[in-house]
Amino acid sequence: MQSMIETKFQSTIDPEMRSIVDTDARRDVRLSLATVPILCYHAVADSVSGPDGKFAVSPELLRAHLDLLVERGYTGISVHDLALARMGLGSLPERPVAVTFDDGFADVLHEAAPLVSERGFAATAFVTTDGITDRAENDSNRKLTWSEIVELDHCGIEVAAHGHRHIEMDCAPWSAIEREIVLPKKLLEDQLGHRIATFAYPYGYSTPEVRERLAEAGYLGACGVKHALSTANDDLLDMARLRLLGTTSAAKLERWLEGDGVRMAPCGERMITRVWRIRRRLGYAVSGRRRTQ
Ligand SMILES: [Zn+2]
Repeated sequence: MQSMIETKFQSTIDPEMRSIVDTDARRDVRLSLATVPILCYHAVADSVSGPDGKFAVSPELLRAHLDLLVERGYTGISVHDLALARMGLGSLPERPVAVTFDDGFADVLHEAAPLVSERGFAATAFVTTDGITDRAENDSNRKLTWSEIVELDHCGIEVAAHGHRHIEMDCAPWSAIEREIVLPKKLLEDQLGHRIATFAYPYGYSTPEVRERLAEAGYLGACGVKHALSTANDDLLDMARLRLLGTTSAAKLERWLEGDGVRMAPCGERMITRVWRIRRRLGYAVSGRRRTQ
């Protein structure tokens, strides 16, 4: 599938520069770049059972979203390339968009990657590493196997980390958070043979301490959710994304791209998020529970 991989943007990043970035430089650099929508998808399937179902987007709807982006002149880039550009280590196309897929569903390779590549886009798949196997299970909603992750990487889709067990990183014990940051990076790098540079927080949750540790561990950028458009002033370790659901029409996406109904990052945490965190932390304090899905 290497022939599908050519993107309009990848060639603008000097490969030599990818390995020399240090954390302090990332924090200091501010470039004046245009607003960049970062789209957050999950499964790409007609139906997904269980609580993940509402996050599933059908292949037809994803196709409509991507066609809209092409019509509007957008070029799909990876989160890694966006982070590098915002650090002054690369340039962006005229109208960049970052398309991302969370949780590592196998349909990202089999349904989404062809649609993305056909349009000359790059994209990013944030993968949770716990439970990844070498054999595909007989389950229509299954996760990627290790060999499929390698194939995805070869397709020009950035493979990035989404924690190991998909826990709430603003509430869990620090020992668990440490593992969520370090372990998926090591597992993915061992499999792929190159650096894993970006991360997405499960549920979008993080704290200043988590973000600091992420930078120390060698990540260049990370994504939350926030339902906002990312801008040049956005925090590189907590970039805003727009979450797309199975009910998000192309018309609604078009309004969001124009700034209608969305915020501009950086933007403060919403009150409901703070209240929800207090309730979740109380839950951890009382029961020590750890959500894994
Ligand atoms: Zn997730």
